[in-house]
Amino acid sequence: MSILKSLACAALAVASSVPAQIQAQQIPFIDTHNDVLSKQIRSGADLALLQKDLQFDLVKAGESHMAGQVFSIWCGEEFGVGTAFKRANQEIDSLYALAARNPGKMLMVRTAAGVEKAMKAGKFAALIGVEGGHMIEERMDYLDSLAARGMVYMTLTWNNSTSWATSARDEVTKKDSLPQLGLTDKGRAIIARMNELGVMVDVSHVGDQTFWDALAASTKPIIASHSSVYAIDPFRRNLKDEQLKALAAKGGVVFVNFYSGFLDSTYFPRQEKFLAVHKQELDSLTKLLGDGDEAVHALGNIYPVEMNALRPPLSLLIKHIDYMVKLIGADHVGIGADFDGAESYPLQMDDVRGYSLIVAELEKLGYSRGDIEKIAYKNFIRVLKANRG
Ligand SMILES: [Zn+2]
Repeated sequence: MSILKSLACAALAVASSVPAQIQAQQIPFIDTHNDVLSKQIRSGADLALLQKDLQFDLVKAGESHMAGQVFSIWCGEEFGVGTAFKRANQEIDSLYALAARNPGKMLMVRTAAGVEKAMKAGKFAALIGVEGGHMIEERMDYLDSLAARGMVYMTLTWNNSTSWATSARDEVTKKDSLPQLGLTDKGRAIIARMNELGVMVDVSHVGDQTFWDALAASTKPIIASHSSVYAIDPFRRNLKDEQLKALAAKGGVVFVNFYSGFLDSTYFPRQEKFLAVHKQELDSLTKLLGDGDEAVHALGNIYPVEMNALRPPLSLLIKHIDYMVKLIGADHVGIGADFDGAESYPLQMDDVRGYSLIVAELEKLGYSRGDIEKIAYKNFIRVLKANRG
């Protein structure tokens, strides 16, 4: 069923007094950050099929009336010159291959018109976001190449700084040893080229100085593809009130991150205790899997009750969304859940099928359908259009 048809059905449902929650589920969502490709490239899982260990697949996306997803292209800081760009292209290849295998279900798009075309055709709109400037390996031609493959945003840094932009982690934990803070001239040239190419500047993960430098340098609205509110959870890469206001004043959009650690200031201390209790097991899992994050995830699967107890309530996620809306307006807030990229999300928010719960909660707070639609997908389309035409 096409999304437009399903909206028409929703309108009929109003007339036949179907419960509000079912009508609410009909609002389409476009999420701006999901890490499933970095997982999928290792496991080979077919995202067209239901995958119980993943939070995103096309089956779940269909059930939750998702209209589209910006897929994060990501590799860690162990990838560098000679490997990072190649890895990014392998992940992009796997997304194109998924689309080629499922032409009736999804469409690769890169513009607002493309998203709208996919929605009208009832197909899932797939877009590409590159999470970390290290993947262009300091080369302008690599930036051009990723843009030519459809990159709609580039996160200037991941947790690791580049030679031209400093990250939130590094600005906080190794401020004194950094050669510079914020953007260099090369960084400003990269932003100018991104503006020319219509690649959105994404400031999730960047340090405060890089944020302000990027906002000043960009001639187009910028985004934070997966960032939450510092005033509620003062984690280093959440956005402070003055940052939220300044980004919105330039027409940008902040897409709220669902990771428990970025929503709940008590999460990391509580998680640390849990990990300390199971330290031996964690160490052996880390050795076995060769990746600390995956080991934490695996440990969570072994102790689901304890892991579940660490999750904040859904209301805390809603609090972040509502705080931003009150501060900067419903035109500047969206959803970038970071699914398949972290080990914990709020209760009930188990996978992409949870988006409808957000609709129901915002309705309870008195949000209009128009404002919920902006948050769910319209703000993304607007900011994409502002950058790419
Ligand atoms: Zn991230």
